[in-house]
Order: sequence, then C-alpha cells, then structure tokens
Amino acid sequence: MTYSLLIGGNLVAGARSLPVINPATGEAFDHAPLASRAQLDHAVAAAEHAFAGWAATPVAERKARLTAIAEAITANAAPLAELLTREQGKPLAQARRELGAMAGFFRYVTTLDLPEKRYTDADGRDLSVQRRPLGVVATIIPWNFPLMTIAFKVPFALLAGNTVLIKPSPTTPLSTLKFGEIIADLVPPGVVNIVTDDNDLGDAISSHPGIRKVSFTGSTATGRKVMASAAGTLKRLTLELGGNDAAIVLDDVDVEAVVPALFRAAFLNSGQVCLAVKRLYVQEGAYDRITSGLARLAEAAKVGDGLEEDVDFGPVQNRMQFEKLKDLLNEARGQGTILAGGRLGNGPGYFIPPTIVGDMREGCRLVDEEQFGPILPVIRFADPEEVLARSGQTDFGLGASVWSGDAARARTLAERIEAGTVWINKHADLAPHIPFGGAKQSGIGVEFGEEGLVEFTQIRVISA
Ligand code: NAD
Repeated sequence: MTYSLLIGGNLVAGARSLPVINPATGEAFDHAPLASRAQLDHAVAAAEHAFAGWAATPVAERKARLTAIAEAITANAAPLAELLTREQGKPLAQARRELGAMAGFFRYVTTLDLPEKRYTDADGRDLSVQRRPLGVVATIIPWNFPLMTIAFKVPFALLAGNTVLIKPSPTTPLSTLKFGEIIADLVPPGVVNIVTDDNDLGDAISSHPGIRKVSFTGSTATGRKVMASAAGTLKRLTLELGGNDAAIVLDDVDVEAVVPALFRAAFLNSGQVCLAVKRLYVQEGAYDRITSGLARLAEAAKVGDGLEEDVDFGPVQNRMQFEKLKDLLNEARGQGTILAGGRLGNGPGYFIPPTIVGDMREGCRLVDEEQFGPILPVIRFADPEEVLARSGQTDFGLGASVWSGDAARARTLAERIEAGTVWINKHADLAPHIPFGGAKQSGIGVEFGEEGLVEFTQIRVISA
C-alpha cells in the first residue's frame, strides 16, 4: 500500500519512510511516509491559509461536512478496522467498535452550537459575548486509540471554525493516513492536514508560531514537554495525560456482578487505556472472592493475533511498552502473588496475558506508576477511610471508582476523591456529551460536550 501525508488538500509523499510493525508478529508489515520539518511548515501554512474561509463558513455547512466525514468513516469502517488491528494490535471486534465510536463523535458534534450571548447589563451596556475560533489547532495523538482520539478533538475544533493539523504516533500512523485519504475531498483544502513523524516533530509543533492551540493526548512526561515548548508562543493547551486510576471495592458488593465489570475495566485494549483500572483496592471481606473471580476470567481469556475473530486480547502495542511491562512484572513477582497470567511466551509478538498480582501495596512500582498494560495489582484494605487517603497519594487524578452494594455509601466516598471522573459501580464509562479531563498531573482542560467545544474558542466581547 502507498500512504500519503495530507497537506493543503493534496496527498503527498513523505521525505523519508518508517517501517510500521505489526505487534502480533514483531515484524514490519508496511511503511509510513515521514514528514520533514519543511512539510510540517507547509501543512501549518496551508491550515493558516484555509482558516479565514473556514471560520466564515456558515455553521450549518461545517456541520454538513462533519456529517459527511462520519458517513465516510462508516462506509470505510471495515478496511480501517483491519488496518487499525494490524498496526495497533487490538482485536478486530474492538477495532470495529473504535470506528463506530469515531463516527459517533463526529455525528454528536453536529448537535452542538456556540450561540452568541447578547444582553444589556444594569449599567446599560449592550454586550455580545462571542466564541471565536482560535486559528490552527494541532492535535497530537497517542497509540492506544489512534482513531478514536482524533474524534475526541478534530470535530470539536472544526465545528468551532478552526483548521486542524493531526499528528499520529509513530507506531500507529497508517490508519490515520488512510483516514486522511478518505476525507481529503470532504473538507476544503487545508482545513484538515496530517503529518507524521518519528517522535521528532513534537517540539516544532508545540513551539510553532503558526499554531494557536495544541490539543495533546499522551503521557504526563510528554505533556510537560509540550507545555514547556508552548510557553514561547503562549499557546492554548488541552492536555489529556496519564492516569493511575484506583478502583475501591467495598465488602458489601455483589461479587458475581462486579467481577466481570472490573475485569473489563482493567484489561480492555490489553490495559492500554488512559482510564483503565490500574490499581484495584479490595476490602478484606471480599478480597478472596473478587481475586479468584478475576483470576478465572484472566485464565479463560484468549490472547492472540487480533485479526483472529475469537481473540479477547491482542498484544501490547510496541516493543518499548512491552519491555517496560516485563520489567514491572519481574519486579512485582518478588513483591506480590501472581494469581493469574504472568507467563510470557517465547514466540514473536509482544504478548502478555491478563495478569493479576495480589497482595501488592504502595511503594511498589506496579502500584505507584502507570503500568499501561495487562498487569493489574490488587491491594487489600480494611478501612475505607484509610484507603481513601492511601489511594489518593498520587500525582495522577484522571479517574477513580467506588464499588458498593450501598449506593449512598459509595457516593459519600466518591465525593471525597480528587479525580476528573469518579464512577460508582462502573469504571471508564465515557460518552461524547460528558466532559472528560484529568485532575492534578493527569491533565489540563476537558474534552467532550459543550465544555470541550468551548476550549477550541476564544471569547470576544463586543461592548457598546
Ligand atoms: P506519548 O506521550 O509517548 O506520545 C503521545 C504523542 O506525543 C505521540 O504522538 C508522540 O509522537 C508525541 N510526542 C513525542 N514527543 C513529543 C514532544 N516532545 N512534544 C510533543 N509531542 C511529542 O504517549 P503514548 O505512549 O503514545 O500514549 C500512552 C500515554 O497516553 C499513557 O500515559 C496514557 O495514559 C496517555 N493517554 C491519556 C489519555 C487521556 O485522555 N488522558 C488518553 C489516552 C492515552
């Protein structure tokens, strides 16, 4: 296959190329074009050039373009899903769901508006509070949900009247480039541009004088770099960063009901989800039943190449992450008890089966750091009060959950957790209309909903 960058409405070849690895085999299956610094500048210039026209395009027309993109995603879902599985590793059924969610976000955004607020205040001023687009918005995308993350940002930015630059992760660029090919003619030239890199254009994007905002999703460490690079031009930033979500399970839960839900929330996408359950705190009275239920599900799960239809979990997405997880696992072997999984095959591909490590505690890296993979530490506790304090001692604050048979009791605990989202008797439940963002060092700003849309705007007040 030939893949192209999308710059100023043209599909163009890269300056170099980069092999793209199928994580199920560990081998390159295709190549992506890599953009040069000059091509990045061309893409930003094209987006700047297209801005005035797009910002002046009636909102109804912008919505029609977003609907056309949603339809094109749906029409091309099968080949896009297969490509996504090949480069990302996730099972095909989940890749198809990612495409469905992507189209859903584009459609949802067409239900939003940015009405001007006009009123006369008590002193007789005639005021108009308007939401104006910013200009060129760069979106920087991670490798865990390469297409869905585009949909978390791009339709909101476009509806608000901005033009867009998309930069995928170097390990999952192909589905994004294919998406670019599919939508190239559905928006005016320069409104959407796609460049790729080998982790070498991030600083140039974040510091670029032609870019007004960066909407970044990725690790907290890279988020700090984006913020530092953006300082010179005082760019607007939305940073959706790492998490180390705790699920706190009280001993009055219905074990049968919560075990499958906890399992899904910890291991979906092989644990490579920003708001996966990454630390599981279980009260003593339920500990044995919860851990044995989870272990049963982990042992029964089928791990393999995501292209095989009956696979539950694919490989870890890239070698670097695989090596990091192996280190964490080897360290944890001496700290806790492996209750399920833990065996790594010798075969090709970056496979780690769903692994549950019981009897863990704070102070171990598997608990304190974001593992971002299919290895779940379980920590026993006696007193819910004490566990609130213990689990909150982290710089992360993306999500958290409380699980109890008594909804009021769960709610009282949930109200005291510092996180962007606190779920009760569920975890990682997202929807396009619910604002989503991180507390503490898990992020700045929010995405989704009206709250997310206004982050792609600048207030202009006309006071007469
Ligand atoms: P990463 O930070 O390594 O990379 C993310 C993106 O940043 C990639 O496109 C990468 O090429 C780019 N990048 C690299 N160096 C850069 C620089 N100096 N300046 C600007 N961009 C640069 O993250 P990842 O490993 O791809 O993704 C996993 C991380 O993302 C995890 O920490 C996960 O929790 C987080 N994440 C957060 C959310 C959220 O919404 N909060 C969602 C998904 C993933």
